[in-house]
Amino acid sequence: MNHLCMGCGICAAICPHEGIRMRFSQTYGCYVPSVSFEECEEGCGVCARACPFAPDNPNTVDVTERLFGEKQDIRHDDVLGYYLQTFAGYSAEHRLKSASGGLLTRMLESLLSRGEIDGAICVGHDPGSPTLFDFRICSNAEDIRSCSGSCYQPVEMSRALRQVLDHDGRFAVVALPCTARGLRLAMEENPELRARIRFILGLVCGQMKSRHLVEYLSRNIAHREFPTEVSFRLKRLNRPANDYAFRLNWKDDYLDIEKNGRARLWGERWFTLEACDYCDDVFCECADAAFMDAWLPEYTADPLGHSLVIVRNEVLLGLLNQVDDPGLIIDRIDPGKVILSQAGVIHQKRRMAAYRPVPVHSKHIPRLRMAQWKWRPDYALEAWMKSRIRCMTEYGVHGNTGSGAHLVGLMSSAWNMVKTFIELAAHVRRIMRPRA
Ligand SMILES: Cc1cc2nc3c(=O)[nH]c(=O)nc-3n(C[C@H](O)[C@H](O)[C@H](O)COP(=O)(O)OP(=O)(O)OC[C@H]3O[C@@H](n4cnc5c(N)ncnc54)[C@H](O)[C@@H]3O)c2cc1C
Ligand code: SF4
Ligand code: SF4
Ligand code: SF4
Repeated sequence: MNHLCMGCGICAAICPHEGIRMRFSQTYGCYVPSVSFEECEEGCGVCARACPFAPDNPNTVDVTERLFGEKQDIRHDDVLGYYLQTFAGYSAEHRLKSASGGLLTRMLESLLSRGEIDGAICVGHDPGSPTLFDFRICSNAEDIRSCSGSCYQPVEMSRALRQVLDHDGRFAVVALPCTARGLRLAMEENPELRARIRFILGLVCGQMKSRHLVEYLSRNIAHREFPTEVSFRLKRLNRPANDYAFRLNWKDDYLDIEKNGRARLWGERWFTLEACDYCDDVFCECADAAFMDAWLPEYTADPLGHSLVIVRNEVLLGLLNQVDDPGLIIDRIDPGKVILSQAGVIHQKRRMAAYRPVPVHSKHIPRLRMAQWKWRPDYALEAWMKSRIRCMTEYGVHGNTGSGAHLVGLMSSAWNMVKTFIELAAHVRRIMRPRA
């Protein structure tokens, strides 16, 4: 299969001969497809045509033009993708347990209660899964609510999608940008899937972590065995919304780890899947609506969180425009502010893409949209350093040897020194530059 596979499971769901199984790789810390050549006598190619990382498949621009390009009143921005309207707000009833403002869970519940869908495919806790999370079909509001929150661990959707293919009904699926594109490609291949998936609700995504992240947190920070449950978005009511914690749970105990205290793991892309380095979709452009954190100063001060939403579908727009609901606190927001809220992710996915080294085992990589900025040595260094750290954490901080961890620590410290120097130089340049 594809060398940039991120283990979404769409190929396994769509194979007409059920010739692909998803298995969990302890080495990579994510799911990988395994093909049974006995079952795959036909070589029909359906699996490859639905893969979001197959280099010759339609890219985000091709898919979204076909989906939204002809819609009335739709607007387009190079980074946001197509959009009808952009909103900021929260659902008072949902946001405490949700990742951001709870608008996604609320939208799923509204779609279900209005009979627009028969079920929602979400990600929830699953102690039996190697990553402690799994996709499932929720057919009532309680199930949907139990899935709120963010899962920064690999999950695969072959089982849930096969259930959709086996049963008549209309569903909404929650998906990351890569998975949303894979779903659109699969829906083009399979008319049943096309008829049954009514809405794709997308999440903005900066990166996905392998299971090695939780192995690292439990072994190196908590000094305990692998936990029985993890929550990645624990809100702390005396802190700003972006100062949240991870909670690792064991049967008899738990430990809260401040995310900001471990910011390096995110900023330096420790344990990030390789596919994420070759992904240019920030705002889940193939989804009917995209949800994200309101990372803007006017919202982060509120510890309970706000969501920003980009809407591309009229039914969903109608739901958000309802003003008769006192629990739904929502306002239109300038699209430019939505872009501003994701400046860091845009930097990684659209700017760094131009500097990333081609993978050593490269065959092809998908066609990426890269911003045409002037070449800068500090960006080139950043891209190189982060891709090295990512590669090392893909295998290095694994098992109990700790040798990989030592090397990653050294790289990380060197990078932080260089970064401080670059920031200082930029500051001095700003001061010295003559004012116009
Ligand atoms: C891997 C990942 C990276 C993200 N990166 C960013 C980012 O860089 N910037 C940003 O602003 N926002 C990011 N988000 C989105 C953000 O964390 C919230 O999920 C989003 O704002 C929706 O919040 P909410 O309160 O409206 O949704 P909630 O009410 O919390 O509902 C969230 C829904 O998403 C589903 N879900 C959770 N994890 C996954 C998953 N891995 N795959 C599919 N469905 C899932 C849940 O089952 C639930 O139905 C990311 C989310 C994920 C999972
Ligand atoms: S080529 Fe066709 S039959 Fe073979 S694994 Fe892929 S989808 Fe299945
Ligand atoms: S469809 Fe998903 S699981 Fe299958 S090869 Fe592509 S990325 Fe991997
Ligand atoms: S960064 Fe891209 S490839 Fe990685 S999980 Fe997010 S959407 Fe998928």
